[in-house]
Amino acid sequence: MRDPLCAECTRLGRVSLATQRDHIVPLAEGGADDHTNEQGLCDDCHREKSLAEALTGRRRAGGGG
Ligand SMILES: [Zn+2]
Repeated sequence: MRDPLCAECTRLGRVSLATQRDHIVPLAEGGADDHTNEQGLCDDCHREKSLAEALTGRRRAGGGG
């Protein structure tokens, strides 16, 4: 992996090893399925991002049932 550090932590001025590979733009949002759309995240950041995406997706997918 070219970027062994968590991208989100790096953005926040922290240094954490990336343990997860993450799609910057989710495939469901039209993101590319290649290395230009991938970043490394640590467990914490990956969990938070997944939660946020799950909430967004649920809101979008829920067609009033
Ligand atoms: Zn992180």
